[in-house]
Amino acid sequence: PVRVRFAPSPTGMFHVGGARSALFNWAVAKQQGGVFVLRIEDTDASRNQPEWVDGILSAMESLGITADDPAFEGPYYQSANAGLQKDAAARLYAGGKAYYCDCTRDDVVARTGKQQTGYDGHCRDRGLEYAEGRALRFRTPDDGETRVVDLIRGNPAFPNDTLEDFVIARGNGSPVFLLANVVDDLDEHITHVIRGEEHLPNTPKQQLLWEALGATPPVWAHLPVIVNEKRQKLSKRRDKVALEDYLADGVLPAAMVNYLMLLGWAPGNDEEILPFDELVRRFRIEDVNSSSAFFDLKKLTAFNGEYIRALTPAEFADACAPWLTAPHAPWTPEQFDQDVFDAVAPLAQTRVALLADITDNVDFLFLDEPAVDEDSWKKAMKGDPATLLADMRAALADATWGAEPLKETVTTVGEKHGLKLGKAQAPLRVAVTGRRVGLPLFESLELLGRERTLARVDAAIE
Ligand code: GLU
Repeated sequence: PVRVRFAPSPTGMFHVGGARSALFNWAVAKQQGGVFVLRIEDTDASRNQPEWVDGILSAMESLGITADDPAFEGPYYQSANAGLQKDAAARLYAGGKAYYCDCTRDDVVARTGKQQTGYDGHCRDRGLEYAEGRALRFRTPDDGETRVVDLIRGNPAFPNDTLEDFVIARGNGSPVFLLANVVDDLDEHITHVIRGEEHLPNTPKQQLLWEALGATPPVWAHLPVIVNEKRQKLSKRRDKVALEDYLADGVLPAAMVNYLMLLGWAPGNDEEILPFDELVRRFRIEDVNSSSAFFDLKKLTAFNGEYIRALTPAEFADACAPWLTAPHAPWTPEQFDQDVFDAVAPLAQTRVALLADITDNVDFLFLDEPAVDEDSWKKAMKGDPATLLADMRAALADATWGAEPLKETVTTVGEKHGLKLGKAQAPLRVAVTGRRVGLPLFESLELLGRERTLARVDAAIE
């Protein structure tokens, strides 16, 4: 059976690129009736933190890659496999496929006269035995080439004379990534290694290790790099990359999953928004594009809006709940009124693209005074609308309090001032909600009530 794995290192916030790799592996496992192994590569003790491991586990949950699914196996921890990794190193040494080396970087630079250079093979035939501080190097073939089967990039060949004799165990005996990663894959009977393109240079070396350990190498697939709008590789210094940050803005996990599945792949027929099961059914790793994938925030936001609109009212209310209290909400629990929120929610659901936007849309209903957006205020109050507002106030004081009659009232007052409804309502909207854009005004006024509406108009006229 197909066995794939996702092997993150817990060295930081969980990255959207990692999420895409996890999902592509998951899609292959689910589709092929195979197994998805989660392996935490926690051997870099200096950089690993337990909270990053927790971050990986909760990211898996958010992505729907759940431990109770029969396709899921793990999590395994690379550090727990140190014994097997050391055995493999010992076997490679015993078989003459690896040798000890006591060269320093400076030695190599002095011998070759080059700063940037691979290992020159100095210790290859010196027959050194293990001693503290001696690294174990793998003896790569001198000629020929190493060809790997890559489902996305054709089958690239790497000339062996470009592959240096690389280190597989450090001077203290601990195995390095290249070896530990292979030994674990072997141990977990991985058939397909699907991972980011940045690992492609490691692949010929790792394939040589598989062969030297007497095993048939896996099939490889290197996923295209993810870039920002300037076509730069997504990086945590420059770009928002943490999955958690997107979820914290109110991207729904399902929208995120759908969007990530399209980073380098398309389901065809110009269809994009599809349930995960359908994406899995159509997914073909061979159809993944080898050129870089653009992480398009606008598109992600638009997707999210569609997912939000597809929620039932009850689901929408549930999804909003975290944003309705501190620290997200600017109002106090005493100011908040669930019935008012339930009444306004359908208006907001058709408009917000990120759940985090919900507070700005409805805060005028709960705060004692609207949160004034300076820019909106300046623009809307430009033509000194005091008389217009005063006329409106007078009309609103007597109007029947419902969205339709309120609209008629404001339309009539506007006409008297020679203004179309759009222009006439702008100062009123800013006076009452603090902002120029927002939910439909007359429904908003209906919910806010006459008393508070008039008080806000009064305050604006002063
Ligand atoms: N721990 C490696 C990483 O996070 C895994 C590479 C691989 O998938 O083989 O980049």
